[in-house]
Formats: sequence, structure tokens, C-alpha cells
Amino acid sequence: MKTPPQQKTYERAVRLHNRAARCQSAGEPIRPEKLYLRSLALKEQIFGPNHLEVAVTLNNLGLYYKTLGRLPEARTAYMRSLPIMEKELGGSDTQVGDLLYNLAQLLKKEADELEQRSRMIHEAAVEASSGLWREKAVIRQELAAFDLEIGQSKIHRFGVFAAGPIPAAGRIIEYTGERVSRRYWAPRCAGRTYLCNLDKYWCLDGSIGGSGAELINHCCEPNCKFLRESGRVWVVSLRAIDPGEELLLDYNFRKEFGIVRCYCGAPSCRGTINRR
Ligand SMILES: [Zn+2]
Repeated sequence: MKTPPQQKTYERAVRLHNRAARCQSAGEPIRPEKLYLRSLALKEQIFGPNHLEVAVTLNNLGLYYKTLGRLPEARTAYMRSLPIMEKELGGSDTQVGDLLYNLAQLLKKEADELEQRSRMIHEAAVEASSGLWREKAVIRQELAAFDLEIGQSKIHRFGVFAAGPIPAAGRIIEYTGERVSRRYWAPRCAGRTYLCNLDKYWCLDGSIGGSGAELINHCCEPNCKFLRESGRVWVVSLRAIDPGEELLLDYNFRKEFGIVRCYCGAPSCRGTINRR
């Protein structure tokens, strides 16, 4: 007997969901998202957006995002799943209880992050008004091919700005710092963010012997990029940069060392400084 097409689609959706769950429990960071989203699309196509099957996949997807620290996406998934589960299973079902617990944990974590961000903004404002950062943040102009200056950034504390016009594809400044081998990356990453990969084995810690390039802020829509050549790293302009414009790089942090939230404000902001 032939299987009806809808039954086949449903079986595919279940297979995708189960594969995603297996990848998730194996700790794979990337594949589960695609698999869950494909399963979700098929289930929505068969059952509509408010079916228990849809809620189950949303619930798993929420947990996946939560584990990766992608909290806003986790919240959206849980918030969509919750009313469906409550309606379909009843408000006293233990699955609803589990979802509420996960959502509560997530909201606490989000609240902590908001508090921490607020504190950082106020600390930066105090630092800016004291003018003390001018002594700490210095550009070694001899390592730069164009005039640069430090100024207050709209993205994060202070940043590096073009003091004159910079053409496209111009080598602006060399990124210097202490060479650190792979063995010591992880502990340094925990406390500092001035790290730039040189190759698979070495990276440069710009907090020690930095040229000032380490002060360039991250943005998901950068106007500069790193150029690695012969064991050295330069910051190169992606397009012509006007005087007074802030230099911006896409840091593309590795996910293994933790998720770092991004507030660059660019229209295509990924939400994190990590690579997708
Ligand atoms: Zn961003």
C-alpha cells in the first residue's frame, strides 16, 4: 500500500527532529539548528503553526539556543512553544512545568546580562568624563600608514578613528602583540578580548605590546579586515574611509571560547561577535 504524501512528509520531519536531537546531545554546535528549522518548517506545513508537534520542536530548538548562549532566540522559541503546550497538554502537565523552568532560567540569565551591560555603560561614562582613558589608549603612529586617533565610540567605550582620508585596500596599521601559542589561548580568552589569530597555532595578544590596532572595535558591518601575511597581521580598509569615521573590524570570535554578545547596532548585526 502506498504511503500518503503527507505521511511521508511527517516521517521526514520526525527523522530531521530526531537527527537534530542526536547531534545536540553529541554537543555539535552548528548542525542541530538547520535540522530543527527544516523539521519545524515541514511540521508547520502539515499541521499549521499551533500544533503540539510544532511546539515540541520549538522546545528543543529553545534548549539548543539556550545552551549556546543565544538567549533572545531561545526566548522567542520558548515563548512560541509555551501557549501551544498549555493549550494542548493542559496547564498542569510536567512538560509545561519543564518549559516554564527553562524559560525562567533563561530570563534570569538575560536579566543578569542586561544589568551587567548597564553597569558597563555607566562605568564607561565615568571613565570618559575622567579623561583617564586618554593615557591608557595610545596609537603607535610609527606602525600606522595613515593618521589615526582615539576617540569615544558609539559602539563600545573608545575606538580608533581615521584622522584623514584612507583609500580602499589600504594597509592602515600593523596588529602587534605578544605571540601566544594555542595551548594558552583559552585561559587568556577568558579574561581578555585583545586576541587576534595569526594562524592555526599562534595568536597575538594586543594587550601586551599592542600597536593600538587592538582598540579597533568590532562591528558586524565592518569597514576593515585583517590581512595575515608572512607571520604578521595588518588591518586593511575594505572601502574608502572618511576622516572622522571609526575603524571597525569583524572579530568573528570562535564559539568554543564562549558567546560574546554584540551591540554594534548594524542593520545586519548577528547578535553575537562569534562567527555563525
Ligand atoms: Zn553586531
